Amino acid sequence: MAGMNSAPAIVILGPGSLATAQRIRQCYPQAQIHGLQGRVEQADLYYSVFGDTLRGLYQQGTPIIALCAAGIVIRTLAPLLDEKGSEPPVLVVAEDGSAVVPLLGGLGGVNLMARDIAQALGVAAAITTSGELRFGTCLLNPPEGYALADIEQGKRFVSDLLAGESVRVEGSAPWLDQAQLPASEQALRTIHVGSALRPASRDELLIHARCVVVALPGAATGLAQQVRDSLRAAGIAEAALACLLASEDDMAEPALHEAAQALNVPLRFAAPAATAQQLLAAALPGARIESAAGLALAVAEAPVAVQQLGRPRGRLAVIGLGPGAAELMVPAVKAELARAQDILGYETYVRMAGPFRDDQVQHCTDNREEMQRARHAFELAAQGRSVVVVSSGDPGVFAMAAAVLEALHASSDPAWQRVDLEILPGVSASLATAAQAGAPLGHDFCVMSLSDNLKPWSIIEKRLDLAAQADLVLAFYNPISKSRPHQLGVALDIVRRHRDGQTPVVLGRDIGRPGQTLKVVSLAELQPQMVDMRTMVLVGSSTTCRFDRADGREWVYTPRWY
Ligand code: SAH
Repeated sequence: MAGMNSAPAIVILGPGSLATAQRIRQCYPQAQIHGLQGRVEQADLYYSVFGDTLRGLYQQGTPIIALCAAGIVIRTLAPLLDEKGSEPPVLVVAEDGSAVVPLLGGLGGVNLMARDIAQALGVAAAITTSGELRFGTCLLNPPEGYALADIEQGKRFVSDLLAGESVRVEGSAPWLDQAQLPASEQALRTIHVGSALRPASRDELLIHARCVVVALPGAATGLAQQVRDSLRAAGIAEAALACLLASEDDMAEPALHEAAQALNVPLRFAAPAATAQQLLAAALPGARIESAAGLALAVAEAPVAVQQLGRPRGRLAVIGLGPGAAELMVPAVKAELARAQDILGYETYVRMAGPFRDDQVQHCTDNREEMQRARHAFELAAQGRSVVVVSSGDPGVFAMAAAVLEALHASSDPAWQRVDLEILPGVSASLATAAQAGAPLGHDFCVMSLSDNLKPWSIIEKRLDLAAQADLVLAFYNPISKSRPHQLGVALDIVRRHRDGQTPVVLGRDIGRPGQTLKVVSLAELQPQMVDMRTMVLVGSSTTCRFDRADGREWVYTPRWY
């Protein structure tokens, strides 16, 4: 389930819970505090209906930490509990932080979360899971590097142990050394840890150790099936597959990534070798190397430390934060920020994109060093890191996406070309401003930056003249700055040659940010002093109109017809 590993939502109902919510967030820096609209200030997000919000989060698979009475949460989620599908962890925490109660999501790690939160709050978690209490570990939730073969069979197995059966461990299960299991050499029940392909018997808990790596050749079709065939031929369970390994030269090959996705394992890369066997031997010294069904595989003694094996394909995402408000950031961007190892950008935007975890590196630079920032981003991503370059609004609108592509286009470094580059869109300032004003961009419009930093002013004048003549609605980015205070006046003179003084103009300042303002004036009233570099200017066309709304403000729109 996609949302299962996503950052938790901390849901609060009143200001009394804010301090506790913030302490919990120390454990999960990417978590967002959802506050009840009108009752809570300083939350990250605001909701108006508690029930709908909680059910929505649950259905998306978002882990929920609710600071309220357990009964409220139980009643709210009850209608959803019959539904099939995996459930995210759900916990309730007393408003004052004195109690931490895991409610749902035992297999999603709710007890681990409860213990972490309880530790941060200096209290004991209210763990109620019998097996976990009795044995000191959740047998159905083995640590990283191991996978349970069958959850239903596992549940039966744990009830047998709770009912008094004794158990013996076959294979190596170091994490059980600390557990209080009813161990006996004569036990009929066994916990079997291994990588062999075998049917689980009624009396055993079968746990696969992820100690196998398969080497992939370059591009080919049906690779995932080939891997499955090769594992079967070698007598190895699919769940024992830790990762796939390929040569760095093939890093950008889509077929390899499709195979890894189909098999749901990581794909790692190593320096090219003459044969697949040598590729594996160099990456996994000491492992047994075999060939089966045409592929080479390595079987290690213990689970493979995938993070230390070769390196991953580096990723560079150029993201748009939207205008500022967290609700206007697209979910794909949030997910990208959570996985980022390095975050690059103008300091204001990097701060807006946070908070970040201690393991995430922030590289703040001046707003003007764009090409240098783009090259730095590629250097980091080419080492295998997951890098994010931050823009406000949309990254493709007068922002970093074009700079990043320009840097790539100019480079002949194959390592840069192999980086997994993606541009993730955001809500641009013109769209965010237009939405607040109504629909001024409801018909054909033209987007321009009035900055002459990167283009001659004469081009700006020419485009303004033609766009105004064409009766397009005009959206001005970078309308004015301290270093060019007089240009906006010149620009407006050009527009006024073609537009009536009554033409509505929308001025949005700091839209989606604290202290935002939205003004509607006529073109005749518009003065350059009303505008600064944090303002978006939308000049209407001949058909743009305005009318009063019930709250004393005004709507502005451009009809879809002419
Ligand atoms: N990539 C950004 C634009 C960068 S250019 C985007 O898509 O929104 C910077 C200009 O955008 C500013 O000078 C201002 O005109 C406008 N702008 C950016 N954020 C804004 C906001 N929150 N409110 C109003 N205007 C904004």
